[in-house]
Amino acid sequence: MKKIKLGISTCLLGENVRYDGGHKLDRFLTDTLGQYVEYVPVCPEVECGLPVPRESMHLEGDPEFPRLVTLRTKQDMTERMVSWAKRRVVELEKEGLCGFIFKSDSPSSGMERVRVYNEKGMPVKKGVGMFARIFMEYYPLLPVEDEGRLHDPKLRENFVERIFTLKRWREVLAKKESRGNLVDFHTQHKLLILSHSPKHYQIMGKLVAQAKEIPLKDLFQQYQTILMEALLLKTTPKKNANVLMHMMGYFKEQLSSDEKQELLEVIDHYGQEYIPLIVPITLINHYVRKYDQPYLKEQVYLNPHPLELQLRNHV
Ligand code: SF4
Repeated sequence: MKKIKLGISTCLLGENVRYDGGHKLDRFLTDTLGQYVEYVPVCPEVECGLPVPRESMHLEGDPEFPRLVTLRTKQDMTERMVSWAKRRVVELEKEGLCGFIFKSDSPSSGMERVRVYNEKGMPVKKGVGMFARIFMEYYPLLPVEDEGRLHDPKLRENFVERIFTLKRWREVLAKKESRGNLVDFHTQHKLLILSHSPKHYQIMGKLVAQAKEIPLKDLFQQYQTILMEALLLKTTPKKNANVLMHMMGYFKEQLSSDEKQELLEVIDHYGQEYIPLIVPITLINHYVRKYDQPYLKEQVYLNPHPLELQLRNHV
């Protein structure tokens, strides 16, 4: 499998680039997710020309438009960081990133809830790191997370699902743009989309149904935007249970009443969060294989990311 390209804050890879000469190695990112990902490291503070070690910095002023200032000598690094970041995000276009993992709490790299200090030296956790803000404004639809949030199993599963989906979508874009390729992609992702947003599922269904009337470029553009918006909405046990019930409908003829009862119980137990999603998914995968169900066996929802990541064992 061709690896997924992700941007990452360099210190998370264990590189000694922090202000104190240290790093913030994250083993899940390097050892586990790293098997499927090619990282493009970005350390804003080092890449904008600051040394290691260096004076530490923080954000101060208006949380909407903070300044990046060193703690001891009060040097204002804002212009230096902003002009470098604006160049760097453009440069990153050539990498074809499917997402970015930021270092949490950093005044340069944090994607949310970064401390911004007021004139009395009191912090509010409402800021965004200088580089992270410019990156997210430039790539509004790219999946982004920070390593702290990725410790939450639900956010982790959602992020990994989004980057794998974006990679598959990019593979469609890499082929000759054709309505047929888009329809195939959509067909395989229908239940995945439904698990995130029934509303987007309907909108995308209509868009694909009208595909012949929409100029090809517009069609791809619109589809990509709605797809990324849909996947941003989190799945829930209720939404997943709805999809599982929908899939169960494909086995009306084959399953005995006892098997139906068992499957219903498993879905219900999952919906009540007694058991993880992997349990009903495994049972349905078993029936898909046993009865060779043609529509379901194409559904990415049943296999959205490598099983080895065990992401559905915890959601
Ligand atoms: S948090 Fe960002 S700026 Fe700070 S060391 Fe890590 S990559 Fe560099």
